[in-house]
Amino acid sequence: MQRIFLDHNATTPLDPRVLDAMQPHLGVEPGNPSSLHTEGRAARRAVEDAREHVAAMLGKDAREVVFTSGATEANNLALAGMVPLNGRLAVSCVEHPSVLSCAEGLESAGAQVVRLPVDRDGLVRVAELDAALEVGVDVVAIMAANNEVGTLQPWADIASRCRAGGAALHVDAVQLPGKAPITIHDSGKGTVSLSAHKIGGPKGVGALWIRTDTRVRAQLAGGGQERQRRAGTENVAGIVGMGAACRLVVEEAAARISALRSAEETFLASLRARVPDVVRHGPGAADARIPGTLNLRIPGVAGEPLLLGCDLGGVSLSLGSACSSGAVEPSHVLLAMGINKVENLESFRVSLGWDTDHDALRAAAAVIADVAGRNRK
Ligand code: PMP
Repeated sequence: MQRIFLDHNATTPLDPRVLDAMQPHLGVEPGNPSSLHTEGRAARRAVEDAREHVAAMLGKDAREVVFTSGATEANNLALAGMVPLNGRLAVSCVEHPSVLSCAEGLESAGAQVVRLPVDRDGLVRVAELDAALEVGVDVVAIMAANNEVGTLQPWADIASRCRAGGAALHVDAVQLPGKAPITIHDSGKGTVSLSAHKIGGPKGVGALWIRTDTRVRAQLAGGGQERQRRAGTENVAGIVGMGAACRLVVEEAAARISALRSAEETFLASLRARVPDVVRHGPGAADARIPGTLNLRIPGVAGEPLLLGCDLGGVSLSLGSACSSGAVEPSHVLLAMGINKVENLESFRVSLGWDTDHDALRAAAAVIADVAGRNRK
């Protein structure tokens, strides 16, 4: 059975062109980028070329890009590195766990954390942001696009509010590249995190963009790599892969966005034809969300048996909810959007890739409809 992978927000397949770029650095190239000999200098060049590609995707200077082991580390580096001891941090309630758990850790260590609520579409309520800024906040963390429902936050507006309020802005932009145009708005001070494996790159590598005049304290003790901001020998092959993935995003952004839009239309039309009462969570307007992320609910059908049945039928979905220690927990994102526990546990996520075949999408919709029909209460 040919599998249909509809979980691209969790991870994307490695683009074969990215693998080609990485290949020399996985095998015979022995250099450590910090070494001064020929092999070391070759590795350094590869890392710096990749840095240029990441910076170009952001429209920023390469010297502002720090490579990390992924977006989880980039988010931790940004928050733990910017929030002063006993400082104040404002985070949206719909952030990724790597931001929310880091905020909890900072709170236990003495920082004050303001949690910013969202509306029914998952949009941060700016009045609450303004209220927090008025009291005084050192750092604001609001993601660019939500990984569960796809809501795009009004980045430009948030950045100018932070600038006016004197707060640094951290943006988790992991789900943005190849799905919406990337314009880094000027928040005065700030950081942006990225992950390679969400854009056709390898797992275990990411980056933090740090605006030149923003101070971020290193979180790892060790060597002086990455301009003293991230100690440890660079993951050369991974970094080269991330650079190649970012280069491809720049070259193909428009095509990927329109491919995701039409894939989404095909999939939704097929599913709605078979399951007319399917509900979609998140903003209605197409320009208020990234294309290709569909958080859905079929009334009366629990998410877990639906996911497991679809898996047996060859279709990979995910639950909006996170599975922890065997129990299915309601999604914190949907809860923050005011979706009750019952509806929450009936919700599931379909996240499409820019190269997903339309016949496969129609077949996946048929599998979902069939499994839902068998599991409906
Ligand atoms: N932020 C968001 C919005 C994500 O979707 C993810 C991946 N699920 C991460 C952060 C963490 O990225 P990584 O897997 O590179 O640690």
